[in-house]
Order: sequence, then structure tokens, then C-alpha cells
Amino acid sequence: VSRFEGVTMAPPDPIIGVSEAFKADTQENKLNLGVGAYRTEELQPYVLNVVKKAENLMVERGENKEYLPIEGLAAFNKVTAELLFGADNPVIKQQRVATVQGLSGTGSLRLAAALIERYFPGAKVLISSPTWGNHKNIFNDARVPWSEYRYYDPKTVGLDFEGMLADIKGLLCYFMANPTGIDPTPEQWEKIADIIREKNHIPFFDVAYQMPASVRLFAARGLELLVAQSYSKNLGLYSERIGAINVVCSSADAAARVKSQLKRLAQPMYSNPPIHGAMIVANVVGDPALFNEWKAEMEIMAGRIKNTRQKLYDSLSAKDKSGKDWSFILEQIGMFSFTGLNKDQSDNMTTKWHVFMTKDGRISLAGLSLAKCEYLADAIVNSFH
Ligand code: PMP
Repeated sequence: VSRFEGVTMAPPDPIIGVSEAFKADTQENKLNLGVGAYRTEELQPYVLNVVKKAENLMVERGENKEYLPIEGLAAFNKVTAELLFGADNPVIKQQRVATVQGLSGTGSLRLAAALIERYFPGAKVLISSPTWGNHKNIFNDARVPWSEYRYYDPKTVGLDFEGMLADIKGLLCYFMANPTGIDPTPEQWEKIADIIREKNHIPFFDVAYQMPASVRLFAARGLELLVAQSYSKNLGLYSERIGAINVVCSSADAAARVKSQLKRLAQPMYSNPPIHGAMIVANVVGDPALFNEWKAEMEIMAGRIKNTRQKLYDSLSAKDKSGKDWSFILEQIGMFSFTGLNKDQSDNMTTKWHVFMTKDGRISLAGLSLAKCEYLADAIVNSFH
């Protein structure tokens, strides 16, 4: 009899489960809108040209594969904090940012969770509802208590700003902002910063998509903050596992101490982080010419997603005869869109239309092409009514 008799089968991951079900489907028209990975108009994976150039440079220079220090590649940590805050930002100039290379966004979040668990025992993390499902797993495994704050309002398919403020005002100690397709306005961010200051919360940003201006706004207010960064989506480095945790402190001295403890937490977990992605980022972000090329490529990617968003909206408006206003689709930003489809309707999308997506009604526009918008609109309108 197995010594592992007591080990029960773990539940499948909702997003990876969607990709597996997609692979198993044999329909020609099938669409995978679950995972947030950028695809070309032909729905193929995409390696950025700047990444290929950086890799060529690395080969030409004969870069080696020796171990990195625990905190990662120094050149990477430098450019990554400068990218986030701007090289002239007082937080950089005064050396108030503790930056440690992490195993992409996830690993960086996990390190921060370990820091919270060790130095703020009992503190509670507030996460948006809904959020990326792994946030809850990360804090659970780090033994950090969490609860949700209102964010998405299914009635308006928009932001529940009043509910959000009320929940942040509650007696909890931390706050985690997760940029989704639905973002607060700059004025709303100011109000959020007011409450965070008043309540003495520590803001925690998960920067998995574009660099949000709100991070700099909070830093300019003199707040201490945590920022987990990922290069999975914006540089297409998904499986290189490259990202960072940045802790903005009120003094250089505090930042040095925090950094030393982040390293101490990282070492027993994985010794030191991988070098390949770190070198790519250091080469791209640290070189003015490649950096500009990267920005141009990001604009192409973002532009493709925007065009797809517009086409989907046009198709929905043309096909839906019920008079429903679909303009919320245009108001959302980034890689994803909340359609407002409920669980049963999302199930219908998959079983009847072979559109694979998470059951919260979210679709990844990065996995959609202009050519498939009409088909998707038919599926959504049919599933709604
Ligand atoms: N945060 C959010 C909100 C995400 O959606 C993701 C990936 N889907 C991540 C973090 C982490 O991604 P990675 O570990 O690949 O950087």
C-alpha cells in the first residue's frame, strides 16, 4: 500500500484546465480566450524581435551561465526599478527601493508574501474581487490571511468604486491593487491614495501587464509600497520566469535591510534566480535603441488588441437586436475584457460554441483575431439571450 494513500487528488487549475480542454477539442472554429498570452492575428505565439536581438547579442558576447547572486543580476535589478519609477525619481536617487529579481510575477509575489508573513504577522492582505486566482493560493501557502474588496460590479460591468473605497476603509492592514481590464481613473487613484495614507495601509501592486502610472503616483505621495513586476506579457518572456519584487521604503537604510531579508527568504526557496531572461531584459531595457524598439513593438501588440476590441464591439452592436449597450467593452483596457457573461452563459460559450474561457465571463482579447470577432460576437449574443 502506498505511503501516499492520504494524498488526495488536487483540483485542476481553472485556467490551465481551460487550455487543456481547448487542446482536446477538435472543432475548427475553436477559440482559446482563457490564458493571457499574446497571439498574432494568425493566433500563433509571438517572440518579440527585440528579444531575438538581445539573445543574439548574448551569444555574440559569449555570455556564460554561472550562478547569479541571490538577489539576481545587478544590471537587471537596476533597469527594472528605473523602468518602474523613472531613473530620476527620488525613490531611486535616494536608494530607497529594495529590488530583488524574482521568478517572474508569481515568484516575486510569493517572496513579498513571505516578507509579510515574517515581518507583519497577522496582517491581512486585501485583494480585489475578482482577481487572478493564484493570488489567493500564494497568500494561503505563505500563511498570510487575506480577504477581498469589492472591485468589479457585474451590474455595470465596471468598477464598484464606492464599494471599493468602503472596503479599503475597513480595519484591514494591506491593500493589493491588481490592474484588470477595468481600472480606476487618475482622480479615483488619488482618492484611493488618500485612504491608504489615512489608514496607514501598505499598497501592493501586481504589475503583470502595462506599467501603471498609479505606481509612480503613490511613490510621489511618499508612501512605502510593494511592487511585483513581470516580463511575461510585456516582453513575451512567459517561460523565462523573469520579474522582480520592489519594496519602496522611506529611507535607504530601511531599503538595505528589507533587501537583505528578501535575499534571506529567497535562498532556502531556490538559491538564486535564472540568468537568461534577466540578461534579455537588461539588454533591452538598458539599451536606448533596443528600448525604443521594444516600445514600438509593444505599441503594435497593444494596437492589435485595441483593434480587436473595437471590432468585437462593432460586431456585438450589429448582431445584438435587443438594444443592449455594449460600450463597456470599449471602456475596458488592456489584454482582457469582462463580457458580463455569468457561469451558465460562459459554459454555453464552451459547450455550444467551442469558445474556451474562464467561468467568470472574462476573455483574453490577446487570444482573439480580427477574423474571429464575428464568430465570437455570435457566440456571446447567443449565450446572453
Ligand atoms: N499577476 C497577474 C494578475 C497575472 O494575470 C499573472 C499571469 N497570468 C501574473 C501575475 C503572473 O505571471 P508570471 O508569473 O508569468 O509573471
